[in-house]
Amino acid sequence: MKFESILLPGIDDKRPLVIAGPCSAETEDQVMATARELARNGIKIFRAGVWKPRTKPGGFEGVGSPALKWLKKVKEETGMYVATEVATEKHVYEALKYGVDMMWLGARTVANPFAVQEIADTLRGVDIPVLIKNPVNPDLELWIGAIERLYNVGICRLGVIHRGFSTSDKTIYRNLPQWHIPIELKRRYPDLPVFCDPSHIGGKRQLIQTLSQQAMDLKYSGLIIESHCSPDEAWSDKDQQVTPASLKEILSSLVIRDRTQ
Ligand code: PEP
Ligand code: MN
Repeated sequence: MKFESILLPGIDDKRPLVIAGPCSAETEDQVMATARELARNGIKIFRAGVWKPRTKPGGFEGVGSPALKWLKKVKEETGMYVATEVATEKHVYEALKYGVDMMWLGARTVANPFAVQEIADTLRGVDIPVLIKNPVNPDLELWIGAIERLYNVGICRLGVIHRGFSTSDKTIYRNLPQWHIPIELKRRYPDLPVFCDPSHIGGKRQLIQTLSQQAMDLKYSGLIIESHCSPDEAWSDKDQQVTPASLKEILSSLVIRDRTQ
């Protein structure tokens, strides 16, 4: 596989490339308040979950398509690019309709080859960068299979997100990092940009700085970090979200030994 750059116009290839924003788009005010502050702090790509795949029914499953209007407003008002998770054909159509600049496949979706194939078929002929999270289970081949499904329909602007692997063991992490898995992926595909998602690995905001530094020491290209204007009131993943101000501190604390990707 020969990958092409996921960089969007105006974004340079300095490490880390940072994608930040709330776990979920909740209300227009929450999205705009978070986005404005992130943009002021120099963030160039905004993330927000519009459709949320929850482990159990009954939780907040995302606002759905109406939230795409808020993402469009983020683009228009702040100039940031916007990224969201897609899990079905309908999500892809809707996200494209509202001008989403980058999409990612979530860990639960990547564990399901039929879902990945449906998304890939919908994206055939579309020129958009796509990031593929690792599957929930520690299965490198399944992760690579998802990359191949996207690549085979002509999506060459690909990257991956290491978000950790679920475990029944009691650990400090929400999802075990198992660093050797993304390291092996990078060994096989040296040109594939790897992002770390310290928010979902750690599950708590106190772990984000250390995990981000570890990712930088392993020469990851970027970080995707959940940031919310009022984390304790977040409707999903509240323990792991940081304010834009705290994100700024975390990022400025990182020691980057080799800045190029
Ligand atoms: C998310 O990014 O908010 C998310 C649902 O992540 P994951 O697919 O890694 O669980
Ligand atoms: Mn989340």
